[in-house]
Amino acid sequence: MSQYQSIRPCIICHDQQQVEHYCSYDKLEYVRCNTCGLIYVDNFADNQAMHKAYTGGGLRSLRRKLLAPFRKMRSIKGYSHFLHRARGIFAFAKQYIAQDTQKKYLDIGCNKGFLLTAGIEEHYDVYGVELVTVLVRPFCNTYPQFSSHVYSDKFCDVAQRFTDGYFDLITAIDVVEHFEDPLADLQEVHRILKQGGAFVIQTPDGDCPQARTLGCNWGALKPLEHLHLFGAKNFIDFAKQAGFREVTIHDAFEEADGNFVAVLKK
Ligand SMILES: [Zn+2]
Repeated sequence: MSQYQSIRPCIICHDQQQVEHYCSYDKLEYVRCNTCGLIYVDNFADNQAMHKAYTGGGLRSLRRKLLAPFRKMRSIKGYSHFLHRARGIFAFAKQYIAQDTQKKYLDIGCNKGFLLTAGIEEHYDVYGVELVTVLVRPFCNTYPQFSSHVYSDKFCDVAQRFTDGYFDLITAIDVVEHFEDPLADLQEVHRILKQGGAFVIQTPDGDCPQARTLGCNWGALKPLEHLHLFGAKNFIDFAKQAGFREVTIHDAFEEADGNFVAVLKK
């Protein structure tokens, strides 16, 4: 057993006796819980450093800011590809909810708004949360009637705007690994989801072959952004702790660095 003393206990097992050092990146340390397999950043970077990791900083950020006020969705490079991908994910997600009435849909971490666009095509009332404001400007320019439904903040700060059971369908594609307090955030998702509603996620799989063979070079290890890396099995336990009654695991929408998809039913 390693002598490493973690700062934070495992958020699933609530224990730190079985937590071992995993990988170091400068001063940031990934640890792994030997009980459930959760890989997590033990000591978060400061807010400024984490925010910069998202906005890219410097010229990339400036170029985006200058162009954003004028851009429409169709001018986004790879528009057809991204919309096709989003339609596929949306079609997968909506099969898990009843198909009768006008539906409310939330995409957490909506990025450029392609999933929201797919939702609009299916006549859903769409809402989005995106920390990087400038990313979602072309969506707001294209669909001004939905621009007041897009919130540029962390999910935990946006969720309180919504009453219990407000949404029929919620997605978070490549997002839960970014949550600083995943239990609190999943509990909020559960609260604002309607009874019988579904929450669909994709996240890197800490048990995938790449994670095991590449070790500290696994592409999903980004300690400024990816704070908790679940596996399919421990994610089921975790989602049930947050209140979801049924959790199923599915093949990834795209493999990337090794992902899994989960459908959480309330
Ligand atoms: Zn654990």
